[in-house]
Amino acid sequence: MPQGDHLYDCYKPPAVEFVRGEGAYLYTEEGDRYLDFIAGIAVNGLGHGHPDLINAVKEQSEKLWHLSNMFKIPGGRELAKKYCDALPWAGKVFFTNSGAEAVECAMKTARRYHYDKGDTERYEIITFTGAFHGRTLGTINAGGNPKYLKGFGPGLPGFIHLEFGDHDALKEHMSDKTAAVLVEPVQGEGGLRPMPDQCLRGLREMCDEHGALVIYDEVQCGAGRTGKLFAHQWVDGAEPDIMAAAKGIGGGFPLGACIAKEEIAACMVPGTHGSTYGGNPMAMAVGHAAFDLLNDPGMMAHVNKVSNFVKQQFEALKDEFPDVVDEIRGKGLLIGLRLKKEALAVRKNALTKKLLLGSAGDNVMRMAPPLIIDETHVREAIGVLRECFEEARSLPDFEV
Ligand SMILES: *Cc1c(COP(=O)(O)O)cnc(C)c1O
Repeated sequence: MPQGDHLYDCYKPPAVEFVRGEGAYLYTEEGDRYLDFIAGIAVNGLGHGHPDLINAVKEQSEKLWHLSNMFKIPGGRELAKKYCDALPWAGKVFFTNSGAEAVECAMKTARRYHYDKGDTERYEIITFTGAFHGRTLGTINAGGNPKYLKGFGPGLPGFIHLEFGDHDALKEHMSDKTAAVLVEPVQGEGGLRPMPDQCLRGLREMCDEHGALVIYDEVQCGAGRTGKLFAHQWVDGAEPDIMAAAKGIGGGFPLGACIAKEEIAACMVPGTHGSTYGGNPMAMAVGHAAFDLLNDPGMMAHVNKVSNFVKQQFEALKDEFPDVVDEIRGKGLLIGLRLKKEALAVRKNALTKKLLLGSAGDNVMRMAPPLIIDETHVREAIGVLRECFEEARSLPDFEV
């Protein structure tokens, strides 16, 4: 495939081009059908071409596209209320266009909260290895992945990166300078690692002791992906102070949200933050439709049922291919297999068999299928994976 186009070469897409989507499938111009088990990286949770989302866009597009936040935006207050009603701790929402912007807003809110209390030296944000928070200058510095920081100038001060799961290091680095600890309840990009429940609770306690805030990045693991509207809702006693959401909450329309406790967001007064597009009428219309579908208990029951089935099938695959599958990772329908062979090679092979997969750090084959898949889709995917693993047996072992 010659590169010679005018796009930044930040991505290396395969030659295949999709022109249409329906449910869990994507189609090429020629009508070739691919099973989509990555869903725009956990974005198209409701599948492609969901009628409710299409209607929301159609109806709103005939009324009003954009106003800017200079004016009250139709649907904005109501959608913020829906999120706050669904999350007992939540009181205020700032809508964004992306996950990185939601994380930026969360970090700014945390720092400003302490600043306004007179705690002007409390600006440090602690994160853990394997974290991913986006690609802006602020969020690459928060994430701390050296691969993403390389060549982008001096590291920003105020970020501390600790080893994932290292409680002692956390204890040591928490101080009266700690503004917040920022974590993904289930790491996505870093290799689909869930934070154990007791760690989330421990983190909450430790932050309370030190007067620091807990920020969850649920950009990938939220929006129903783990079988609850947000992943932290699985754990009692681990509520955040601030949370970033995006990806699945717009069902494919660019929409993110920074959600905070009311008393914490109180510092974000006029002039402190803004976004031209954030929460515009189109995004709000789709956001409502997506929220209503995701917040339906039937939908979450479905995710839990189908993800249990996936898990069983994965266990069977692991037993069948102990030389290929190393470990089952993830939670709900944010799932993956850590492989003993190169995950990227297996993913490429799956593409030739019309199954779309992702990858993540730690040689993990990442899957984030639409939440609407049923057992038939799972069987179809497992059939392809079985072929791929059979063929991967002859590959050299992969050293992570
Ligand atoms: C994708 C992702 C982001 C960044 O979201 P963008 O919409 O790409 O800016 C942030 N955090 C997590 C956990 C993500 O998975």
